[in-house]
Amino acid sequence: MQYTLPKLPYGYEALEPYIDAKTMEIHYTKHHQTYVDKLNAAVEKYPDLQEMAVEDLLKNIKTLKVEEKDRAAIVNHGGGHANHSFFWQIMGPKKEIDDKLVDDINSTFGSTEEFKKKFTDAATARFGSGWAWLVRDNDGKLQVYSTANQDSPLMQGHTPVIALDVWEHAYYLKYQNRRPEYIENWWKVLKLI
Ligand code: MN
Repeated sequence: MQYTLPKLPYGYEALEPYIDAKTMEIHYTKHHQTYVDKLNAAVEKYPDLQEMAVEDLLKNIKTLKVEEKDRAAIVNHGGGHANHSFFWQIMGPKKEIDDKLVDDINSTFGSTEEFKKKFTDAATARFGSGWAWLVRDNDGKLQVYSTANQDSPLMQGHTPVIALDVWEHAYYLKYQNRRPEYIENWWKVLKLI
């Protein structure tokens, strides 16, 4: 089985003006596609792994019976595939507020505004390329942190709830070096809260 690009749940222009159509098109058809292609290459010698969902590859990353260079490639490209597939799903042109999640956020962080501040800080402070996350940890509690490169919270048994791509390729065409402005506008296309 080959890993494939998931269908984008909206058009390239759907998140305008906050995320421009050109960025969406390149991000999805070039960057995400490349992660998919390189993941397929990384598991080429391992027919058993090819049958696993990408999320399961990442959850079991430490114990996969693979060469170390292939494990590193699965982290990078499997992570890239899983992270982007998740990222497309939580954005949209219309809010679809998850009331239960909002309640959980309010009781964990004090208020939605406090949560946004904490998440924004994590996204802004990530040096170089990476992601900001809201996850559920092993005890089901919400946590905010960032990861480097394409590292996925799934690798430490955490479940992604909200993700923000802060690689320059996610915003450079429209925002150049202005990551804080990208993050501020991104809240408008996050569906869930
Ligand atoms: Mn990206």
